[in-house]
Amino acid sequence: MLSHCANLECSKPFLQLGQGELFLIETGCVTNLDQNAGSRSAFARHAPRRVERYWLCDQCSQVWTLTHDLNQRIGLFPLPQPAKTA
Ligand SMILES: [Zn+2]
Repeated sequence: MLSHCANLECSKPFLQLGQGELFLIETGCVTNLDQNAGSRSAFARHAPRRVERYWLCDQCSQVWTLTHDLNQRIGLFPLPQPAKTA
């Protein structure tokens, strides 16, 4: 959902572009092909993919990223932190 930060523990409201980070993530083929029933075979090779939009606020986007997990579900993963050398 794009209305709030994708981090459920944050859920900061999405106010404007330019803040935080937007993610466009393919979530697999669209299963409902009824609207293309007349040309189903033509679409079989180029199955449309559904793209979900997610947003992380400024603070969360510096710590988290969004990607698929092993089950192809969208999940929140910590960004690798740069090694701090003193
Ligand atoms: Zn957030």
